[in-house]
Amino acid sequence: LKSMLSRADLVCDTAYIGGAWIAAQSGKTFDVTNPARGDVIATVPDLGRSEVAAAIDAAQTAQKPWAARAAKERAQILRKWFDLLMAHQEDLAIIMTAEQGKPLAEARGEIAYGASFVEWFGEEAKRIYGETIPGHMADKRITVIKQPIGVAAGITPWNFPNAMIARKVAPALAAGCAFVIKPSELTPLSALAMAKLAEEAGVPAGLFSVVTSSSSSDIGKEFCENPVVRKLTFTGSTQVGRILLAQAADQVMKCSMELGGNAPFIVFDDADLDEAVTGAIACKFRNNGQTCVCANRIYVQAGVYDAFAAKFKAAVEALQVGDGMQDGTTLGPLIEPKAVDKVQSHLDDALSKGGQVLTGGKPHDLGGLFFEPTIITQASKDMIVCTDETFGPFAPLFKFEDEDDVIAQANDTIFGLAAYFYAKDISRVTKVSEALEYGIVGVNTGIISTEVAPFGGIKQSGLGREGSSHGIEEFLEMKYICTGI
Ligand code: ADP
Repeated sequence: LKSMLSRADLVCDTAYIGGAWIAAQSGKTFDVTNPARGDVIATVPDLGRSEVAAAIDAAQTAQKPWAARAAKERAQILRKWFDLLMAHQEDLAIIMTAEQGKPLAEARGEIAYGASFVEWFGEEAKRIYGETIPGHMADKRITVIKQPIGVAAGITPWNFPNAMIARKVAPALAAGCAFVIKPSELTPLSALAMAKLAEEAGVPAGLFSVVTSSSSSDIGKEFCENPVVRKLTFTGSTQVGRILLAQAADQVMKCSMELGGNAPFIVFDDADLDEAVTGAIACKFRNNGQTCVCANRIYVQAGVYDAFAAKFKAAVEALQVGDGMQDGTTLGPLIEPKAVDKVQSHLDDALSKGGQVLTGGKPHDLGGLFFEPTIITQASKDMIVCTDETFGPFAPLFKFEDEDDVIAQANDTIFGLAAYFYAKDISRVTKVSEALEYGIVGVNTGIISTEVAPFGGIKQSGLGREGSSHGIEEFLEMKYICTGI
């Protein structure tokens, strides 16, 4: 891996705590493997609670002087960090593809996407405005100010090893908070490389620490039980989100949760079918189906069902499965054996309930963690895919007749993150957009993520928003000052 980079030192084998690059006190490490090839590409420190506590202490020390700086100064450092992330885009993308498996072109895109949050929130730092409210009595004045919440902690998954961290650390630092991150144990290298560049950008020691650990539940407990931490921000499964919310309750900690989804993707009979196919490919197969906003259920109106299925099949068969490092690859491996098993179990379940394979339908000939991009037709409500997120290259096609019926089916889930539909009729577009019980709705597009919009879910998909001016609010407390004159 190092030989492929112009800056080999961006692959770190130490963790970044309190401004120092350290090994574990215990001497323990864990391996990082390349999911396309199965080989070990690095080992990183396996830290425990005491080291996390040290990171939290350092964060507390660094936070107050950071918050006291002018917003413009904080913005300048974030801007420098953004510039360094973009200057090293290629190296960061190679590191990501090596540890995560996504095609290099997607990895480059993610580096730019992640960096865009650092740029955006640096700018937002200067716009943390308060309010003045006319006093409730003649001799009273009321002003509202917003202040950083203090020390924030984050836990992130492996599917976007850079962007999921950038979306949290950038608003935290912009707001004047300090931040400790525990990246996924499957993808710690991207996080450490980000920290290396943050250090070079002038982010003060202790303000941003990266805790690598294979004992995620211990780290989660330290984050929730250490009284210095006032904010927890998590991206991952709904199941782990519930555990963390319960743990955070003891200290009444402010929480943001970006949890699972089960996105419906609806193609109405007035849709542009070619555009709908392009959108479905982007939305279902990006990152090999391993995103929380990936289409999980594709509903197609009866009149265009066969035509859509034929075009979609052709597009899926044109996907190129392989090592993300190779030119032309559009679909990498899945992240780990458990992920392959899940795709297989959703497929087996669908087939046992009447689903028919249109294309794909088995592990890929490449072996390992590769799976054929798969479409099944005749999907039905009783299939597991309706209640559980597949997180893989499995696309079930459901046939529907009626608009109200498909809205009801689309909403029939505990999740509420992203939904998509394709239609042209303006009243239908308006009605369906409003009726879908989701935090994000893509209309005639399969790509919805951007730093300028408030990403987040409703129902059991989460709490809070990331990105946009709303994203910084998650790291701020509001205070009103009532002054007698
Ligand atoms: P995924 O299925 O996407 O891996 P998880 O929710 O299992 O999602 O993991 C997301 C992140 O949460 C990872 O960094 C993982 O290490 C961490 N994690 C998993 N279990 C716990 C836990 N009990 N407490 C704290 N963090 C956890």
